[in-house]
Amino acid sequence: MKHLFQKIIFVLLLFSLATALFAQKILVVNTYNPSFPWASSFNLGLQQTAEKSAGKLELFFEDLDITRFSSEEDQQNFARYVTAKYENYPIEGIVGNSDHACAFIEKYLHFAETLPKAYYTSSLTRPSKNTLCLDFEYNETIPKTWNFMSNVQPKISSVFIVAGESLLTENVYNEFLKVVPSNIPIELYKDFTFQELKDKLSTLDRTTGVFFLPLTKDRNGTPAIPKKLLADLTQISSAPIYTSWETLSGTGCVGGEMLSAQKMAQELLAGLQQYIKTETFHTSYSISLPIVDWTAIEKYSLVKEAIPSDALILHKPVPFYITHAKAILILVNILLAAFIFILLTSSILIIRAYRKLRKTNEDLAEARKKAEELFLYDTLTGLFNRRGIEPRIEYELNRKKRFGGSVSLLMVDIDFFKHVNDTYGHDIGDNVLVKVSETLLDHRRSTDLVSRWGGEEFLILLADTEENRAILIAEKIRIACSNIRFSETNNITVSIGVAEVKQDESFESWFKRTDTALYTAKNSGRNKTVSASETCPLPSILVDSVGINKSV
Ligand code: GH3
Ligand code: MG
Ligand code: MG
Repeated sequence: MKHLFQKIIFVLLLFSLATALFAQKILVVNTYNPSFPWASSFNLGLQQTAEKSAGKLELFFEDLDITRFSSEEDQQNFARYVTAKYENYPIEGIVGNSDHACAFIEKYLHFAETLPKAYYTSSLTRPSKNTLCLDFEYNETIPKTWNFMSNVQPKISSVFIVAGESLLTENVYNEFLKVVPSNIPIELYKDFTFQELKDKLSTLDRTTGVFFLPLTKDRNGTPAIPKKLLADLTQISSAPIYTSWETLSGTGCVGGEMLSAQKMAQELLAGLQQYIKTETFHTSYSISLPIVDWTAIEKYSLVKEAIPSDALILHKPVPFYITHAKAILILVNILLAAFIFILLTSSILIIRAYRKLRKTNEDLAEARKKAEELFLYDTLTGLFNRRGIEPRIEYELNRKKRFGGSVSLLMVDIDFFKHVNDTYGHDIGDNVLVKVSETLLDHRRSTDLVSRWGGEEFLILLADTEENRAILIAEKIRIACSNIRFSETNNITVSIGVAEVKQDESFESWFKRTDTALYTAKNSGRNKTVSASETCPLPSILVDSVGINKSV
């Protein structure tokens, strides 16, 4: 395992060493101060290509600021230094970033004679087979710029060219002559002082399109930095100004098809690499791009829709949501958090409310059950009360009407119960009532219904029972009650009235007959069962043993 790890590290090291050794080595000679806009943009283009090559391309930059070190001696010293450094190093090609660089390399770097070279220059009149020279492509850049001008400024009525260095001006003017329609006049403005130029520009018609060439001095030899001069002119010009040099963008000029140092560097390098590989250069190069200043477009009310889709747009206002993206994000997060908080709280509240509701429902159901029990049952004995038994009696009466059969009632009343209360107290009286009700329940059959009719009176419904059978049951009950043992009181006795319902008899009449039988039992000495029907003969055995009377 350890060996495998070491092997992997070794292979990786070998690989990176090989990449470094076999990387294509290109020398870049820069004769401007590297901080100049042109030079820094040019270098940036080269570095971007090197980065993209992922180690396959290695660039060596050598700078000589020609504006400060322009003497023959300075150049010779620089040449000695560069030669000593690279003569025996496997350099495969050279890039020169200006006319000066081209002149310097051609004159002083003898070791580079056989190497392929790529220059940004037009000064090398007869380049050798291995040398590529790229420069401002007038015949491509000016037509594209005119096309842009006439599209964004459709009402353009004249072209005004501010002349710069003579060769450049001549080439640009000739290209404009080729592409601008004959009905649109072209004025070439030259031999001016800067003041005259400013005065002229401030009086131009708005339908004029001004094309600006970089210039470093006026008729009087007053020096100027092109970028600064153009920035001043855009402030006062009544007509929009266009140009074709990337380094002049951002000055308030509208823009145009612009020569790009960055693209120039990349194309030179690409051409050079192609030559190293195939010994031929590419046939065409793209060294310009459309650049537009949004503020200038708005200032002169030009047609925004006509801006080329591939244009680099400067000063375009960034949409509100991008400039305030962070704040919007924070706000959205806060709102989201608040929303989640509300959601959680409301969920908790809903759950709580639901639980409370469920509890209330349970309580209500419980209360209803209790109320129902209170309504139908006697709280002391747990027997049916009057309301509880009445529907059952009604049911049995109806059943008899339909299907026939017999139903009987027993009315049981404790004898001298008032005396129990008066002697032992109400609580003891209650105990007696409970015990009696238990005895009644013990002695009923499964189809019999026992109820507490009121006070110490119990009404018992005997389904499917004729009166003589009912009397037997009543007797059993009477005897059982008289045998109940109470710890606090003496035994009690009960009197019972018995009646079987007659055909089609109402409950009231039936009940009255039962009650009358009970009354008779009471009046004839208590501790007796009396039946309402005189016709019902009493079994002799019972008469003998318990002395049942009949109502009179
Ligand atoms: P009788 O033999 O003629 O039936 O006489 P009695 O004393 O049993 O009858 P009375 O109607 O004179 O008295 C009944 C008593 O029952 C009166 C009342 O105080 C008592 N009573 C009624 N309901 C209750 C109860 O729920 N508990 C108690 N302890 N006593 C009750
Ligand atoms: Mg009574
Ligand atoms: Mg009584």
